[in-house]
Amino acid sequence: QFPFGRRLPCDIYWHGVSFHDNNIFSGQVNKFPGMTETVRKITLSRAMKIMQDLFPLDYDFYPQSWILPEELSLFVDKVRAMKDNDSSWKPTFIVKPDGGCQGDGIYLIRDPSDIRLTGSMQSRPAVVQEYICKPLLVDKLKFDIRLYVLLKSLEPLEIYIAKDGLCRFCTEPYQEPTLKNLHQVFMHLTNYSLNIHSGNFIHSDSVNTGSKRTFSSILFRLSSKGADVKKLWSDIISLVVKTIIALTPELKVYYQSDIPAGKPGPTCFQILGFDILLTKTLNPVLLEVNANPSMRIEHEQEVSPGVFENLPSPVDEGVKVAVIRDTLRLVDPQKKKRKDTQCRFPLVFVVQPCCNLQGLPQKKRANPPSVILCCRCQSLKQAPEASEELLDAPQSPEAALPSLCLKQVFPKYAKQFSHLRLMDRVAALFIRFLGVKGTTKLGPTGFRTFIRNCRLSNSNFSMASVDILYIDITRRWNSMAIDKDSGMCLQAFVEAFFCLARKKYKSLPLHEQVSSLIELCESRLAALRGKRLVCGCS
Ligand code: ADP
Repeated sequence: QFPFGRRLPCDIYWHGVSFHDNNIFSGQVNKFPGMTETVRKITLSRAMKIMQDLFPLDYDFYPQSWILPEELSLFVDKVRAMKDNDSSWKPTFIVKPDGGCQGDGIYLIRDPSDIRLTGSMQSRPAVVQEYICKPLLVDKLKFDIRLYVLLKSLEPLEIYIAKDGLCRFCTEPYQEPTLKNLHQVFMHLTNYSLNIHSGNFIHSDSVNTGSKRTFSSILFRLSSKGADVKKLWSDIISLVVKTIIALTPELKVYYQSDIPAGKPGPTCFQILGFDILLTKTLNPVLLEVNANPSMRIEHEQEVSPGVFENLPSPVDEGVKVAVIRDTLRLVDPQKKKRKDTQCRFPLVFVVQPCCNLQGLPQKKRANPPSVILCCRCQSLKQAPEASEELLDAPQSPEAALPSLCLKQVFPKYAKQFSHLRLMDRVAALFIRFLGVKGTTKLGPTGFRTFIRNCRLSNSNFSMASVDILYIDITRRWNSMAIDKDSGMCLQAFVEAFFCLARKKYKSLPLHEQVSSLIELCESRLAALRGKRLVCGCS
């Protein structure tokens, strides 16, 4: 820990909250620039909406959502139209203030007129979302799952999912929402930070009882009742990969702005907390993504009136320690070096008494590790030359650890998701025309150059219309933005891009309009580059 500032470069930087150190030029940082902003409720909703518009069937795991106040009238109209269509429809919605956490300011409504638009919490922008009324119950209680996901790299995309997670339980038996029970947070909200204050909260050291349990214990229970838990896991993996695919375009814009390509800088990785609800029919629903999930392995308990003590929580410890340990194993720079250099003396450390190797199995005695760390005298001994085989041999440091709890899901299953990565290509076009290093917004000249280089203007769409399109869209997005910097943000560019795609390929479905325009832009830019290279050579 460096409470007074750091002087020496490190291999791995573990920041508490967000990516904030601009003086790092090498090594690896445990946060991505812009992650906190990217997973805020409104930004996540916007990213998911774009993907739902493009691929409605693939993104049906995210509840229908509207952003307040900008989409209030859309929301009101939609609910009115649905009610007119079916008078027996009695929907429930959940309103969540943007940037809120731990259930802060969240409330349920039955009608758009119940939205609270005044008051300090309520006047904040928020997301209003379809409420999942029929969640899966265990012991008559609603619960959600916190799954830990390691985004190990953005380019190339590498994602790992922890094999176990935590289930956080409500503390009042669940009933479907009625006007009478809407405000009962212990029945409807699964947040630990809320339920801990209920008299019914049960701290348990066992993984399958109490108000916080392991996900594996729930899966075991479901499987013993005949549920298809293999399918459930596969659906959860899809949910995680698809959500990250929705977030990567925005993350790439932040990344190039903080760590410009070609300049020395660190690489990043990040542990994310995915909050997932299971429906009665065992479909996973994404509630939210946390950039800074709690890694506490203790819980607070009132040991006598008004006296609180931090006590160990074995359930948290079992899941969270494994996630951090395996993240460090996966990003271990020594491991990479060992692989890269294939050195004759791989640095394999084995903790064993140096004075006798007799504890080793016969085969390994003939081929001892290259470095031995004596667990008695703590001295390091150089051992005779080690074979390649030792890198994975049982006495490697990995051997002393349990098998990895983090399972790679991308690129392992990349093939089945590659068609969804359209927005990454739109972001690549956006980044290409950003021009000034360190910015996340496109100026009017950058937008004009994009149109010109991709030859998108013609007699029906003049450069004057291009300027109007830029001004209209940019002004609207900037009026809603938290940062008041001028210029076109990625989402505004996406809107302009969709608008151009619709104009050019009217008859096609949206995702084909967009992919056709991407292909056109990419091929024209490639041709232009080729031409420039030829001119440069001649
Ligand atoms: P916060 O960041 O404040 O925890 P969440 O989005 O996680 O906000 O919502 C808080 C809780 O509300 C969740 O843990 C879950 O129990 C419940 N919840 C959130 N969204 C929904 C939804 N669409 N349907 C049903 N329950 C929900």
